[in-house]
Amino acid sequence: MRLPSRLALAAAIAFTATACSTPAAPPARPGPATPASSTAASPGTTPPHPTTTRARITADTARALHANELGHIPILMYHRLTPHPTSVYERTPADFTAELTRLANEHYIPTTTAALTTRHLDLPPGTHPVVLTFDDGDPSIFTLTPHGDPAPGTAIRILLDTAATHPGFTPTASLYVNQHPYGEPDGGPALAWLHHHGFEIGNHTKTHTNLRTVTPAAADTAISDGDTLIRHAIPGYQPTTLALPYGAHPHQENLTLHGSTYTYTGALLVGAGPAPSPYSTRFTPQSIPRIRSQTTGKESQYGSTHWLDLLAQPGSHLYTSDGDPTTITYPRSETTLAPDLTSQALAY
Ligand SMILES: [Zn+2]
Repeated sequence: MRLPSRLALAAAIAFTATACSTPAAPPARPGPATPASSTAASPGTTPPHPTTTRARITADTARALHANELGHIPILMYHRLTPHPTSVYERTPADFTAELTRLANEHYIPTTTAALTTRHLDLPPGTHPVVLTFDDGDPSIFTLTPHGDPAPGTAIRILLDTAATHPGFTPTASLYVNQHPYGEPDGGPALAWLHHHGFEIGNHTKTHTNLRTVTPAAADTAISDGDTLIRHAIPGYQPTTLALPYGAHPHQENLTLHGSTYTYTGALLVGAGPAPSPYSTRFTPQSIPRIRSQTTGKESQYGSTHWLDLLAQPGSHLYTSDGDPTTITYPRSETTLAPDLTSQALAY
């Protein structure tokens, strides 16, 4: 284990102070990222198969890249865009654009919660995964024009435009919806468009139920009804991840991932720090932490600008890809490899 640094200590304090977070080790990133040198992963939840032309990673290459596939992954949480935010859950379009541009410039590549929970992280060497998540189906996040295109000014339009000007920045995200998503009665055209363009649609319960406050049967129904409305909106599609409303688990915690009509690979919390790598023993699929998109104001010490600043520091334990999806590469100082992955491990 690394000795605690000032950064590590600050991060540890932030973790301790927040009920929603997992007690993951604090960051310690090894040096600046190497720019992406190959094509980005395909969008959506189905990763591409490894190409036969791609070279296998070696310890020397991994060291040069500072590869660390047991490192931390920021999962950013957004709710609404508005020119005049009145709560910490709102961002201006300009702030959102600036955050995406920062992520692209710092060699982050968007992926989905489903890709993360199923361990399908296939990213160019030297890049870092980030998951952009959007809760509650607000029309400021996504609306279709009468011509069937993403409306100007919406978050998804901004994401697509950012990707168009930053090669390799995959325009994908995970969108967690309730009933009437994006202002549509049944969400059909909006959810179908998103699905067909490589976005993940996840469950946020039908009516935004606080699952901690209801009976196990009612929790099962709340999740099942949300699952059903997505499947009806997108024929043939099955959601595989859940964002817990208010970050609250059902009292019967196994209902988070397994209920009468659903089986999920992961569930997202509301706060308040980077997620562990899915290849790490610290990864808990039913309680995956997220980071609220936020720069200033109340509790901004749990916000995205704070965490991205920490993760940009040398020795921050940021997840950095080796570019080889068949190998889990990490410095020998990392000790949390999941035992079922030892045959794929490359420690350097
Ligand atoms: Zn919500």
